[in-house]
Amino acid sequence: MKNKLSTKLFEEAQNYIPGGVNSPVRAFKSVGGNPIFIKRAKGAYLYDEDSNKYIDMINSWGPMILGHAFGPIENQVRKAIKDSFSFGAPTRKEVEMAKTICNIVPSIEMVRMVSSGTEATMSAIRLARAYTAKDKIIKFEGCYHGHGDSFLISAGSGAMSHGTPDSPGVTKATIKDTLLVPYNDIAALNKTIEANKGKIAGLIIEPVVGNMGCVLPNEGYLKAIREICTANEIVLIFDEVMTGFRLALGGAQERFDVTPDLTTLGKIIGGGMPVGAYGGKKEIMKMVSPSGPMYQAGTLSGNPIAMSAGLTMLKHLKNHPEIYANLDAAGEEIAHGLRKSIKEIGMDCTVNQVGSMYTLFFTKEQVTDYTTAKTCDTALFGKYFHKMLEKGVYLGPSQFESLFISDKIDKKLIKKILKANHSSLEELAKE
Ligand code: PMP
Repeated sequence: MKNKLSTKLFEEAQNYIPGGVNSPVRAFKSVGGNPIFIKRAKGAYLYDEDSNKYIDMINSWGPMILGHAFGPIENQVRKAIKDSFSFGAPTRKEVEMAKTICNIVPSIEMVRMVSSGTEATMSAIRLARAYTAKDKIIKFEGCYHGHGDSFLISAGSGAMSHGTPDSPGVTKATIKDTLLVPYNDIAALNKTIEANKGKIAGLIIEPVVGNMGCVLPNEGYLKAIREICTANEIVLIFDEVMTGFRLALGGAQERFDVTPDLTTLGKIIGGGMPVGAYGGKKEIMKMVSPSGPMYQAGTLSGNPIAMSAGLTMLKHLKNHPEIYANLDAAGEEIAHGLRKSIKEIGMDCTVNQVGSMYTLFFTKEQVTDYTTAKTCDTALFGKYFHKMLEKGVYLGPSQFESLFISDKIDKKLIKKILKANHSSLEELAKE
C-alpha cells in the first residue's frame, strides 16, 4: 500500500501539532508506523490521501452507526447550514432533541446538551457533587470518561495504550477525591464504600467498557451496583458515550435493564458532529444553572448544525428498530468467525463482543478487567493491526479499544473482514 502523501502530511503536522495529531490514539504510537490521513469516507469505507480504500471498523469511534456520509443526515445538514451556523440563543431543534432523548431513554427526564463526551462527564460529576454535597467519586480502573482531571487516574483508551494512565498536571487534591475500584469486583467496591462512608457523591461507570478494549459486565454486576448506590445515597452515573443508542436504542441501560440516576451521552447523538449530553432524574437535573446553582455553560452547546445531524440520526434509529437486530447478528457472526480462526490457527487470543462492539485481545486470559486486559501482547497486536491495514481493514490503532460495527457492514464485508483476519493470524503464527 502506498503511503507517500500520508507520510508527508505527518512529517509536516509534527511541526505544528503536538505529536502531529489532535487526539493521541490517532498517532499510531502504540502500533508503530505513521498514521494514515483520511480524505473522505462513504458508507462502510474510508479513503486516504494516497487513494487507498479501507473497510472502517472504528466509525469515528462510534458515531457512524449508519455508515459514513449517510444521505438523510447530509441533506439535513445542508439545509441547516443555509440558516447560519450558530446563534448562541435557543432554537426549536434543541427542544426537539431534548424531547427525543427523553422519549427514547426513560431514565433521562431532563437533558443538557454539551459539545463533547468529556464535557458531559465533567458536568455529571460536578452535578453529583452539588446534589449530594459530598466530594468523592468512584471510578473504575481502565474506564475512560474523557480527559477531565478527575478521570485521568488509571484511565483507559489512549491513556492506557500510551502508558500514561495517570497524567502529570492533575493535582494531588483532585486525585484524592477519585476512588479507584477494579471493574467486575463487587467485594472491592463494597470495601471502598465502607472505608469512605458518607463521603461519596457519585459512581461513574462504562456499563460495557469500550476503553480497555470491549469488556462486558459480569452477570448481575450492574444490578448489584444499582442497589449499592441506592443504599449508600451515591448518584449512579452510566457513561454511555459509547454504548448509548448503540447496544440498544435506549443504550446499555435498556439492554441490561438497569436504571442509572444520570447518563452521559456523546458520539451517536451528534451523528459525527461534536456533541455530548448529560441527563437524568428531574430532581437532580433541576440543580443545573439557570434553574439551579450548579454552573455549567457552553457557547456552542446545542449548535443548530449538530442538532440537525443528531436528530436525523436518532429519528432514523427510532424508526428502524431492525437495525439493532442486524447489528447484533453482524457482531455475533464476526465474533464467531474470529474465534473459529483463533482455534484453527492455535493463537493465544480471546474475543469479547456484545452487539456491535468487539475486541480481539492478544492474550489467552479471559479479559474481565484492567489487570487481565494488561496481559495482552501489545507488540503482537501492533503487527496484527498493520497486517489488517495492508488487507484493507482499518482497526482502532490500539489493543485497548473496542471496534464498532456500522449497519453498512453486510454479509459480504463480514466475509472479507474474517478472511483478512484469518490470513493475518496465520502469518503471525508463522513468524
Ligand atoms: N466517555 C467514554 C465512555 C468515551 O468512550 C469517551 C471518548 N471515547 C468519552 C467519555 C469522552 O468523549 P470525547 O472524546 O467526546 O470528549
